[in-house]
Amino acid sequence: MIQILDKEKCVGCHACYSCCPLQCIAMEEDSEGFRYPQVNRDVCINCKKCEDVCPVVQKPVLQDFSEVSIAAYSKDEQIRKSSSSGGVFSVLAQVVLKHGGVVFGAAFDSDFQVHHIMVDSIDGLDKLRGSKYVQSKIENTFKEAKEILKSGRKVYFSGTPCQIDGFKNYLGRDYDNLITQDIICHGVPAPFVWGRYLDSVREGLNSEIKHVTFRDKALGWRKYSVKIEGINGKVEMSTFLENPMMKAYLRDMCLRPSCYNCPSKGVRRSSDLTLADFWNVSEFINDFDDNRGTDLVICHTAKGLEILNEVRSEIACQEVDMRAAYENIPLNNSSKLPANRDDFVEFLSKSTFTEAVKKFCTIPMYERIITKIKLISKRISRRK
Ligand SMILES: Cc1cc2nc3c(=O)[nH]c(=O)nc-3n(C[C@H](O)[C@H](O)[C@H](O)COP(=O)(O)OP(=O)(O)OC[C@H]3O[C@@H](n4cnc5c(N)ncnc54)[C@H](O)[C@@H]3O)c2cc1C
Repeated sequence: MIQILDKEKCVGCHACYSCCPLQCIAMEEDSEGFRYPQVNRDVCINCKKCEDVCPVVQKPVLQDFSEVSIAAYSKDEQIRKSSSSGGVFSVLAQVVLKHGGVVFGAAFDSDFQVHHIMVDSIDGLDKLRGSKYVQSKIENTFKEAKEILKSGRKVYFSGTPCQIDGFKNYLGRDYDNLITQDIICHGVPAPFVWGRYLDSVREGLNSEIKHVTFRDKALGWRKYSVKIEGINGKVEMSTFLENPMMKAYLRDMCLRPSCYNCPSKGVRRSSDLTLADFWNVSEFINDFDDNRGTDLVICHTAKGLEILNEVRSEIACQEVDMRAAYENIPLNNSSKLPANRDDFVEFLSKSTFTEAVKKFCTIPMYERIITKIKLISKRISRRK
């Protein structure tokens, strides 16, 4: 039976919860809003299925394939504008929907908490489009996806690398009608911290919230902004450098404990495709660097490459050296655990969001100068 002896290891993927034949595992929220499995020992028959599917205990089987890296973006300007990177997710998802398939991904609920949902129409993709920097709750979507796969319908399942590892283990076999796509992942913030941030925004707007975008491109892709619209028409917008939630996220102050030692890092993945922000695309293809967003796509299987080939007429794309993938630091490396991470979360439960961020997430001047110097010297050494 699955026992969480070390909370820092559990990624919260819901594979154990999904596979239990007696449904005796509940996913319970801790004080930060992260979910962990709790086994009802009175019902458990100790079949160990939950241990067998856990991606922390058991890595999924990887296919024998030489990874390929591709720079790509959607030729549809509207899709590209409303996506975090180049909108490749939407293009791939659309082709699956056109074949009568379904798409699973992360969406906001009416309270702006994040859950995995299934979508079966092109209009429905709106809900999945764009990064949400909060851990998405898988709930029953692994089970729903498996039922659809068994019926022969195509399924596109998108999620964080640990969610895809958990899903693949839960399925236990490959399906020809399944495409899985993960992301290069910085880590997932705590729903509690996100909830506190939203409360502060509601207070500022003096309104309930109508719409949230983490990656608004009005000031360009590189200077993306968090944009929140109130139902009263007021808008709060700040770049990722100024926004308090993004400061806490990018300073690694509120990630799930397992994100600091992520078991799903590496270039070899269980997914068919990995999508990421191709920030340094200009070093590989200058033409693609128009500040409107480009995906770095890493194909891990022949199936992944095949679906990308199927949408070639809808995307601008070009193969790039695998160095592009390796230079994306979170591909292989977990975020570093700040010594005062728990202090930040505890302080936040007693203070305002602004106070907590000011106290724990302000980058000291000397650190900013060092980062700038490193960046400039990297650019100069590349030009030589
Ligand atoms: C939490 C998170 C961290 C990321 N960290 C990095 C990083 O460090 N470096 C990097 O290069 N790229 C990172 N990305 C990926 C990148 O920002 C883009 O999401 C990716 O390139 C796809 O962009 P797109 O324009 O093709 O599609 P988009 O439409 O922007 O992507 C939407 C897809 O992302 C999925 N998604 C959104 N939020 C979540 C969530 N909370 N949990 C699971 N799936 C979600 C949706 O289901 C959908 O499939 C991260 C994304 C997320 C969600």
